[in-house]
Amino acid sequence: MAEVTRCRICQSPDLYTFLRLGPTPLANSFVRPGDEAKSEPSYPLDVCLCKNCSLVQLGYVVPPEIMFRNYIYFSSTSDTIRKHFSEEAQEVLESYAKPGELVVEIASNDGVLLKNFLGKGVRILGVEPATNIARVANDAGVETLNDFFSSKSAAEIRSEKGAASVILANNVFAHVPDLHDIVKGMGALLDSNGVIMIEFPYLADLYLKREFDTIYHEHLSYFSLKPVIHLFKSFGMEVFDAKRTPVHGGSIRIYVQKSGGRHKRNSKGLEALLKMEDEMGLYSPAAYDKFAAEVLALKKELLALLMKLKAEGKSIAAYGAPAKGNTLLNFFGIGRDVLDFAVDKSQYKQNLLTPGMHIPVYGPEMLKEKKPDYLLILAWNFADEIMRQQEGYKKAGGHFIIPIPQPRII
Ligand SMILES: [Zn+2]
Repeated sequence: MAEVTRCRICQSPDLYTFLRLGPTPLANSFVRPGDEAKSEPSYPLDVCLCKNCSLVQLGYVVPPEIMFRNYIYFSSTSDTIRKHFSEEAQEVLESYAKPGELVVEIASNDGVLLKNFLGKGVRILGVEPATNIARVANDAGVETLNDFFSSKSAAEIRSEKGAASVILANNVFAHVPDLHDIVKGMGALLDSNGVIMIEFPYLADLYLKREFDTIYHEHLSYFSLKPVIHLFKSFGMEVFDAKRTPVHGGSIRIYVQKSGGRHKRNSKGLEALLKMEDEMGLYSPAAYDKFAAEVLALKKELLALLMKLKAEGKSIAAYGAPAKGNTLLNFFGIGRDVLDFAVDKSQYKQNLLTPGMHIPVYGPEMLKEKKPDYLLILAWNFADEIMRQQEGYKKAGGHFIIPIPQPRII
């Protein structure tokens, strides 16, 4: 456990802590039934703004070997993500990768994105640190190196496979403790005309939609565009385009090339985003104080709603046991006195208890058996998909509660 004393991007010690979510267990450390009484390690969950480069980051870092020991998120479980990735692959094939060229994906998971390139003439390589997940990818025919992506593994890949025309990284940048090393590695692996596409949850969305629950120990950084431009510039690269995407509550995809590369810079689009960030106040502490106050107000409002329903004798369960759900449950103190159980499609979470609050997790079929009156959607980023899939629950008289940006019943 290390306290962060300098900014991960610019090394400035001028960090402003604006939100303290308190000691919190790791969001993916589910507990075996029977182990509830055993002590559960918890770690501070504080968030700060670098007053120099505007990177928002956690105030404490849990060592990755503790955090990723039991990594259980398999991205293929979501239809929304599968579709998003198939569209991304199409864009890469149309615009950036020619037959025979190398496409590398960092933190490639079970190959959910790279599968879309099979049989399309390009060479692919995944890099995935979780051994069990890398094995699933390799078994599915997606060649995957079981390692962390770093300047060291990048050099090894380059000497074995040559330079990469495209490097993809989705939902990993926020998890990286050493941003300088990963960016250096990307630069070393990238072909002189190559493109890096990186997608991460966008701070502007987190801020506007009060997505405070996306703050958990695995997410070390919360990016606006400005500090990222600065980061790549300091390694001889330039962000030449950026697009907002709807996944994970609002993300942004940046396009990077070596400085002076052949891809045209979308100056207008980039400047519009920077202007928006500035006007929102994302570069100044005052906006974050306002955000913290809004989170506390949200807590009060959601708890009042749940208590009212309980007082009326209603039963409530949760849909989804995502990492973000555990931030919300732990910070709001929502336990088994409120939620009877949670359901999640991931079999890796079923029959376990959520970290901290110890809500039992079952498969979605439990909804038919128990018929709770209300379903708190903790996986709100998939709310539309969930409500579509659970149309029968709604028709039978059930109600959904979406907790953010403002609690509402559907
Ligand atoms: Zn900084």
